[in-house]
Amino acid sequence: MSNKQQNILIIGAGLCGSLLALRLGQRGYNVTVYEMRPDLRKTDISAGRSINLAFSDRGNKAMKLVGIEDKVKELCIPMNGRMIHDKEGNTFLSNYSGRDYEYINSISRGELNGLLLTEAEKHENVTIHFNKKCKSVDFEKTTALFKDYITKDEFIEDADCIIATDGAGSALRKSYYLGKKFLFSFSQDYLTHGYKELSILPTENGGYKTYKNALHIWPRGDFMVIALPNLDGSFTVTLFLSYDEGEYNFNNLTTPEIVTEFFQKEFPDALELMPNLVEDFFENPTAPLGTVKCSPWHYKGNTLLMGDSAHAIVPFYGQGMNASFEDVVEFDKVLDQNLDNWEAIFEAYEKNRKKDTDAIADLAIDNFHEMKDHVGQAIFQEKRKIEMMLEKEFPEDYSSKYSLVTFNEDIGYREAMLKGRAQDKAILNMLADGIISTSDDPKDILDKVKSETEAILEDDRIAGLR
Ligand code: FAD
Repeated sequence: MSNKQQNILIIGAGLCGSLLALRLGQRGYNVTVYEMRPDLRKTDISAGRSINLAFSDRGNKAMKLVGIEDKVKELCIPMNGRMIHDKEGNTFLSNYSGRDYEYINSISRGELNGLLLTEAEKHENVTIHFNKKCKSVDFEKTTALFKDYITKDEFIEDADCIIATDGAGSALRKSYYLGKKFLFSFSQDYLTHGYKELSILPTENGGYKTYKNALHIWPRGDFMVIALPNLDGSFTVTLFLSYDEGEYNFNNLTTPEIVTEFFQKEFPDALELMPNLVEDFFENPTAPLGTVKCSPWHYKGNTLLMGDSAHAIVPFYGQGMNASFEDVVEFDKVLDQNLDNWEAIFEAYEKNRKKDTDAIADLAIDNFHEMKDHVGQAIFQEKRKIEMMLEKEFPEDYSSKYSLVTFNEDIGYREAMLKGRAQDKAILNMLADGIISTSDDPKDILDKVKSETEAILEDDRIAGLR
């Protein structure tokens, strides 16, 4: 579309909204953003949800697009692998990739969001308003109703198009659903598990109490604890646990004694690092985890959902933010096609993107089981060893499912899912049947894995899964 003097209204200045504002600002559009929270660069508020996040190649691709890769790098702590902690306190490091240059990063949500806001505001055609909550969207008139939290006034804004990046509880998505003006499909699936954030504080001189460059996992079958490092020497720790099943669950962890007993029994080495456990546990909220899928994302050329508002996922692949950033990259590619109008742009974007966000939603559920359970099992550890060996010996020829999803930004999530699942199945089957073992010749293993993977993919094709 040639007319750059279009007015675009963005709802929500979180990770996706602030990046989108920056990119559209760079492209010359008039961009107005409304965010319900105060400016997180000026107020000491928790940025909401997880304090830090795993940031990887798909997210970084978006940072390259807007030219702030170096600034973001300064906020990153590389995590080369998973540090697994067993019940006896033994640890072993399982690298994310057999290629040394592939790793993920821990990054502060607040710092990254702040940087994106600052970069967006450098463009005079971008204006960001805080403390203004969207209550509803009239998608037929392309207007949105806001409430100002400071003055308590309500007001209506209009635009040439509205893009909602207002997260999992999106006001636009609610308006689609309640409006009943078109066939809108929507599903929200909660896990039986919730999460609670805890912390490992820095040492007295600001050092790290445990190994800094890893994502720590304490897998225990039905539940788990993870920890990601922060730049100040602390770790943000997250407990994922059922609300009401099992011997210990969120509903029965009600006293300091029971909480301490639970950690003593299940995570003794973590407990040693967390003298503040009980305080954190009772001060911090327990929150649910869910997957949101919906369609269509857009109404004509008027409105569009992007980021978590269109596809919230559970956090176990560390991809929700990365996928939301990749949304902006994919949207930008469609803008490059110079289509005639917003409707054509939104339609092309959704058609190309939805299959991939559906795939990462499903992969994230798979990884929930892998992280809390499989990483501690012998056959999965064997599979991992084989994958590491193949990636190291044949860096051009082999990538595990994890690498395809996390580091191979040139293929979409759906392609990564189909190929990665077939490879997993091939390796696990052949390990179980004694056809391959970790001591075999790597080239021999590679050939067998490739031909078995192809056979599985061919079966999938015939069954109509591809
Ligand atoms: P959000 O970040 O939720 O931003 C939405 C913004 O809109 C917020 O600023 C909000 O205040 C504002 N808003 C909401 N409603 C309104 C309204 N009505 N009016 C105006 N403004 C509004 N992803 C990763 O890639 N790696 C990870 O390691 C990772 N870990 C996670 C851990 C947990 C526990 C959780 C819950 C999520 C994790 N994610 C992770 C996912 C990631 O947080 C989200 O995918 C990402 O925040 C989506 O960005 P967004 O901008 O679409 O939504």
